[in-house]
Amino acid sequence: MGYVEPAPIKDKENPFESMMSRFRIAAQHLGLNEETYNVLKSPDKQVIVNIPITMDDGSIRVFEAYRVIHNNVLGPSKGGVRFDPHVNLDEVKALAAWMTWKCAVVDIPFGGAKGGICCNPRQMSSGEIERLTRAYTTSLYNVFGPDTDIPAPDMGTSQREMGWMMDQYSRNSGMTVNGVVTGKPGVLGGSAGRVEATGRGVMVSTLSALEKLKINPYNSTVAVQGFGNVGSHAAQLLTERGTKVIAISDITGAYYNKDGIDIENAINYRLDNRGTLDNFEGAEKMDNTDELLTLEVDVLVPAAMEDVITMRNAEKIKARLIVEGANGPTSAKADDIIAEKEIIVVPDILANAGGVTVSYFEWVQNRLGYKWTKERVNRRSDRIMRNAFEYVYKTAIKYNVTLRIAAYIVAIDRVAKASRFRGGF
Ligand code: NAD
Repeated sequence: MGYVEPAPIKDKENPFESMMSRFRIAAQHLGLNEETYNVLKSPDKQVIVNIPITMDDGSIRVFEAYRVIHNNVLGPSKGGVRFDPHVNLDEVKALAAWMTWKCAVVDIPFGGAKGGICCNPRQMSSGEIERLTRAYTTSLYNVFGPDTDIPAPDMGTSQREMGWMMDQYSRNSGMTVNGVVTGKPGVLGGSAGRVEATGRGVMVSTLSALEKLKINPYNSTVAVQGFGNVGSHAAQLLTERGTKVIAISDITGAYYNKDGIDIENAINYRLDNRGTLDNFEGAEKMDNTDELLTLEVDVLVPAAMEDVITMRNAEKIKARLIVEGANGPTSAKADDIIAEKEIIVVPDILANAGGVTVSYFEWVQNRLGYKWTKERVNRRSDRIMRNAFEYVYKTAIKYNVTLRIAAYIVAIDRVAKASRFRGGF
C-alpha cells in the first residue's frame, strides 16, 4: 500500500503526527486501501475565526479561535471546545480526529470535531469569558447545529460556557435549541451524570483492565495527573471502588500520601480554593510535577493534557497499567518503550469516551424532550464502556497488537465501512 507520508513536522511530538502514526499502523493492519486512507486522514472542514472582544477596561482584544470537523459519516460531528492559551490549529485537528475514532470505538452515531479559543480564562473575568463564548458561537453559527455539529466542554470550559453557547445559538435561531450543545446545566437540558461521565468511564476502563491483569482493585494503588473534571471524578470513583489513590496533581504541583489521599477532602479543598490544590495539606508536595508519572503505582491516570508521557520519561514509568483520561497524553514515540516494558495502556479514544457517550445520551434526551434518571444514564454508559473495552481487547488479541492500535483498528474499520456504504461523488 503506497501511503504518501505527510511532510516532516518540525516538532517531533506534534499531536497531529502522533495521532496519524497510530492511524497509519492500524490502517496497515486493516489493509485499508489508499483512497479510503486519504479520505479518513483529511479533516472535512477547518474554520479559523478572529474574534474582537471588549474587555472590562474598555480595550478591545482579538482572540483567534478554531473549529475543525474531522469527519461526519457516522452522524453529526461532536467535540469539545477548549479555552487555553496554547491551543493551536494542529492540536485542534488532532483532537477532532480523536473524536471521530472515539465515537466510533464506543459505537455511537457521531462524527468527530473539536474547537478552541486561544485565551487564558484564568486571567479573564466572567463577563469577558461570556462575551467571548457568545461571540464564538455567533461566528460559528453556520457550522454548529443539532443535526450538523455539536460542541461540548473540554479543558478550560464547563457547564457555564455550554449554557451561554446554547442560549446564544437559540437567540440567533429565534427558538430554544437545547440539542445544539451538550454538557449543559441540568435545568437547560443537561443530562444527569454528564459532569462525572468521563471520570466514570475512566473508572470502568480501569476496573476492566485490572480484571484482565488479575489485580484486585482493593490491593491497587493509583496516581492521577490533573485534578479537573476528568481527574477528580476518576480519583473519587476509583476510591469508591476500593483502589488507593496515593498521588494527585494539578497546575500548582503534585501531592503525595502513601496511605492514600482523602479525595473527598481534596475535591472540597479545590472548590474552596479557586479551583486549585495549591497548599493542599492532606499530602506532601512533590517538587516536580513530572515525578508523579514515574511513581511506583499499579495504575497511572494521566488526566491533564497531551504529550506528558514521552521519550523523556517513558523508560522511568513503573505503573503496570496506564489509563488515559486526557486526550493524547502519550506521544507516539513513547508507545514502543511502554509496550516493551509490558505496561498495558487503555488508550484515550477508549478510556475517556464515557464523556462523549453521556453527551450522546444528552442529545438523545433533548431530541426526545425527555429526561432519564442518573441510574439509567450510568447503567447504559457503563455497559457501553465495558462492551467497548471487551471488543477492543478481543481485537488486540486477534491482531496481536496493543490496545491502542486495536482501538484504532475498531474505529477506523467502522468509519471506513460507513464511508464505503455511503459512497461519494
Ligand atoms: P480541566 O480544565 O477541568 O482540568 C485540567 C486539570 O489539569 C486541572 O486540574 C489543571 O490544573 C491540570 N493541569 C494542567 N496542566 C498541568 C500540568 N502541567 N501538570 C499537572 N496538572 C496540570 O480539564 P478536563 O476537562 O478535566 O480535561 C482534562 C483532559 O481530559 C484533557 O486532555 C481533555 O481533552 C480530556 N477530556 C476531557 C473530557 C471532559 O468531559 N471534560 C472528555 C474527554 C477527554
